[in-house]
Amino acid sequence: MSAKFRKICVLTSGGDAPGMNAAVRAVTRAANARGVQVMGSLGGYRGMIHDEFVELTNRAVSNKIQLSGTFIYSDRCLEFKEEAGMQKAIANLKKHEIDGVVAIGGDGTFRGATDLSQRGIPTIGIPGTIDNDITASDNTIGFDTAMQTVVDNVDRLHDTCESHARCNVVEVMGRGAGDITLNTAIATGAVAAVIPECDFDEEACINKIIRLRREGKRSFLIIVSEAFPEVGPALTKKITEVTRELSEKENNDKLWVESKFCRMAHIVRGGSPTLSDRLLATKMGVRAVDELFAGNSDIIVVEREGKITTCGILWSQILDRMYKGTLKEGMTDSLSADEIKEMEKFIEEKKAGFKTTYAMFNELAN
Ligand code: ADP
Repeated sequence: MSAKFRKICVLTSGGDAPGMNAAVRAVTRAANARGVQVMGSLGGYRGMIHDEFVELTNRAVSNKIQLSGTFIYSDRCLEFKEEAGMQKAIANLKKHEIDGVVAIGGDGTFRGATDLSQRGIPTIGIPGTIDNDITASDNTIGFDTAMQTVVDNVDRLHDTCESHARCNVVEVMGRGAGDITLNTAIATGAVAAVIPECDFDEEACINKIIRLRREGKRSFLIIVSEAFPEVGPALTKKITEVTRELSEKENNDKLWVESKFCRMAHIVRGGSPTLSDRLLATKMGVRAVDELFAGNSDIIVVEREGKITTCGILWSQILDRMYKGTLKEGMTDSLSADEIKEMEKFIEEKKAGFKTTYAMFNELAN
């Protein structure tokens, strides 16, 4: 262990995610066990700028592992993106003799972590977001709980759909990533999923519902990613109208599939973390402390094929941008040709995996 660490700071930032508390607890207990004091910055980077810290003793993190949200709060602190705000934060860290930071959050949070690292404050990131949109990590803290929450709630909608022979179109969170949508569509027995990663054919979807209704199927569920806020309400209306017209034309009221729209919104972000998220948060929290004390900085802890490992924040950001097709010129200049090839292969495999899963889902959604 590097002798220089006396006190570190942990924060949760960006959108909250179930399991963030378990990660804060793990960071606190691991650091305390190594004789290092821990402060929590209240409301993400905001606490650093406004000098709002709480000491996190082992007792302060008691009874938190099962709680959702984040008990040290989260905030979207725009001031931290400005140099003046960041300097205020660094001055406060120095005032409290804080020598290192663990930042739990998403992509934006990691940008802040890089800024701190580059200004001499060793900082390690932990991916805490329900969206699972950190390409470098197979799983992020909160993702599993969010999916379970969707499944629990959609199962309830399923019950009433079956009773009334209806359709429910459900919009779920996940920002630009379709991970929550596709996985929960599979797990709830939905007939369609609308995700950013794959094409969706509205006409084919409605024709399928009509065909299945003719076969006697009663309940229809469609899961839509929040990346398409207009799609859910419009699709709901269209299914209702098209099937009503058909039922009138054929004089068969059984063909009318009345449809309802449900936007699950922030319900997806709440709830007690699942066992998987508590474990992931615990392992990542301990690893972050180990990495910090080993003298590392400007990296994030990730999970790859079931193992906890790390990667550079820049590497992770380039990978994200490659995946989303938003790379800017010059961003890969610091990488070797081999590194770029390795990243391209990784992305190709991830995209292919998504397409295979989507095809499997569609085959069974009948
Ligand atoms: P997430 O971490 O979930 O992606 P945000 O994008 O809202 O959420 O980022 C969380 C916080 O991280 C922001 O409110 C801000 O304090 C900090 N942050 C975001 N982007 C940057 C940046 N480019 N430089 C420094 N700090 C940033």
